[in-house]
This record gives sequence, C-alpha cells and structure tokens, in this order.
Amino acid sequence: MARPLARIHRPTPRNLARLSAVLARGGLVAVPTETVYGLAADALDAAACAKIFRAKGRPSTDPLIVHVRSLAQADEVAVFNPAARLLAAAFWPGPLTLVLPKRTCVPAIVTAGLDSVAVRVPRHPLLRVLLRLCGRPLAAPSANPFGYISPTTAEHVRAGLGRRITYILDGGASAIGVESTIVDLRDPARPALLRPGSISRAQLENVLGCSMRAPHRSAPAVNTAASSTQLAPRSSRPDSSQIAPGLLPRHYSPRTPLTLMKKLPGPTRAAREPRTAFLYFQRPPSAPATAKNLFWLTPTGRPADAARTLYACLRALDHGRWQGIRAEWIPGTTGLAPALNDRLARAAAR
Ligand code: AMP
Ligand code: MG
Repeated sequence: MARPLARIHRPTPRNLARLSAVLARGGLVAVPTETVYGLAADALDAAACAKIFRAKGRPSTDPLIVHVRSLAQADEVAVFNPAARLLAAAFWPGPLTLVLPKRTCVPAIVTAGLDSVAVRVPRHPLLRVLLRLCGRPLAAPSANPFGYISPTTAEHVRAGLGRRITYILDGGASAIGVESTIVDLRDPARPALLRPGSISRAQLENVLGCSMRAPHRSAPAVNTAASSTQLAPRSSRPDSSQIAPGLLPRHYSPRTPLTLMKKLPGPTRAAREPRTAFLYFQRPPSAPATAKNLFWLTPTGRPADAARTLYACLRALDHGRWQGIRAEWIPGTTGLAPALNDRLARAAAR
C-alpha cells in the first residue's frame, strides 16, 4: 500500500518541538534553509543518516553536509585551521560550506568514507531553532530525489519525496535559491572552490588573502563539437583523485532535455518553435504578448533574483508539455552568475 503523503507543518512552537524530537530520535525531517530545502537527520547517528540515502536514492559515495548551530559545535565535528576560522568568522551563519579534516564522532556514512567532513552554520531562523532544540548536528542534503532539481519550497519537497518521508517543515520560499558555496580547506595553503554559490570567489579570496584553486569539472566549457553557441560541461576527465566527490556533471536536471546556449534566438524566431520552451535570463525587449513558449528568470536583470526563481522555473517547465527547454547563459562572471551557470550546465549535461 502506498504511504500517505507527507504533511507540511507550519512553524508553530508546538510543531518545532515535535519535529526536533523526531530528529533527536533518529527520524527524518525536511527543513527550510536559506539555500534550498534540506532532508535532515542526526549527523552523529549512522542509522538515521542511512535513511537520507534511502529516501533520496542517493549513492553512498556522495557525502553529506553537516549543519551545526555555532562555530563551537563545528569544532566538535571538524578540525579547524586559521584559514577556516577566518572564513567562518566572515560568513557564518550563512551559505558557506567548509571541507575540513573530520573528527572521529562523525560516522563514515556521512562522509562517504572520506577523512574529511563538509560543515556549515546555516542562517535560516527555523533551522537554527531546530538545531538548538534537538542539540545535534544535522546532516542535510537537498530534499529531492537524487539528481533532480533542488526544492526551494515545501511543496517542491512534497512533490518529490512526499511518499518517502513523513515530516516537512514549511519555512516559505528559500531566500537564496541555489546551494551553498563549498570551499575545500583541508590544506589551508591551497584552498579550492569546489562549488560556486551565492558567496562569490572574490568575497572569499578577499578574506583569505590568496587565490583559490579552480573547481573541478564544475565550470562549464564551450563544447566545440556542438554548435559554437551551445554549451556543455567539460568532457575531459581530470585525474579521479582530484574530482570533488558528489560533484557530478549531471545534476539538478529536469526530465525534459535542456540545452544551455550562450545567446537565445530573439522572440520572433523562438515563437516559430512552439514546442520548445525558451528560458531567457531577462524579459526579451520585443517579446510578443501572444507567444506562449517564452519565459524569463527575472524582470530585474539581477542574478540574485534569477537564483531565487531558477529551480521553480525549471520545475514549472518540466511537466511534459515541452519537447525541450533552451536556457540562456547568465551574463557576467561575478556575484551569482558563476553559480547559476554551474547549475544550468549540470542541468543540461546528458
Ligand atoms: P548537497 O548535494 O547540496 O547535499 O551537497 C553535498 C556536496 O558537498 C557533495 O555532493 C560534495 O560535493 C560536497 N561534500 C560533502 N562532503 C564532502 C567532503 N568530505 N569532501 C569534499 N566534498 C564534500
Ligand atoms: Mg543535492
């Protein structure tokens, strides 16, 4: 018999107490964070964390991010160095994840057997309440079936995992909308940006006082085999020991085939392909009101606004109506543009 659909809990004091008790006894709760919704479990309880992998269909080789309420609690799971303390002081609580040597209390399942752990102090007030009430660090990957588009609302979580989990906490739409920036600081002399996010490379390097190594396989590159304007993730494989675990070339992907293009054709040409959805960064200037296949991420042209709508837009275009989606490369190389292009390139990867 099918499991009943998970209930979305409003953030009342009673519900917060109830859900923190679920976490403390080894259960799963989908929680809001400022980046995307997460599927949380007690990070020090291996059996609880195993449920995350089962519910998401996530391979055990993909390690989880551990969410803690303070730098003091982060110190209990990870071994800090001065560079990590600098970044924590500058950006926590916030959307920055640090990869550091792990302490023995962290079960192997959380780190996919690695001797490092990814840790962050989130900013979302409701998650902070849960962390305080349950008293445990919480492992939480995005609350979606593995590989699909990350959820930015409680409804998105229910649409994807509603029959595999029981508890969802509603914290409204995610304020940032894309996953955290991840920095590898295992070797503080050679920091590496593993995943771009809303905290930019420039902000991090400014605090660190040095430049960071490039992310591996996350920066999309022009696919020279395809048309000159079509983009695809790097196909050359770096040495496997250099690849960040879990950073798969295909991720965040709608079922409808998505192509990422440097520039989309203008609205008049796009309107001649009525079965394809065209996803512009900004409203094209001459979009005819009658065209039903033209969409845009933001009216403002600010990448931060596009980040808040990207995943909801991709989901809305993934209901089987379109033969394909053509998305436009986000202009610029600063702020949130690299993070958005990283996610779009992975969504486009075959
Ligand atoms: P998410 O998919 O948002 O849950 O983020 C988890 C990602 O963090 C993983 O897919 C890895 O890319 C990264 N990560 C987590 N733990 C580690 C670790 N110990 N070393 C390197 N990267 C990690
Ligand atoms: Mg994820």
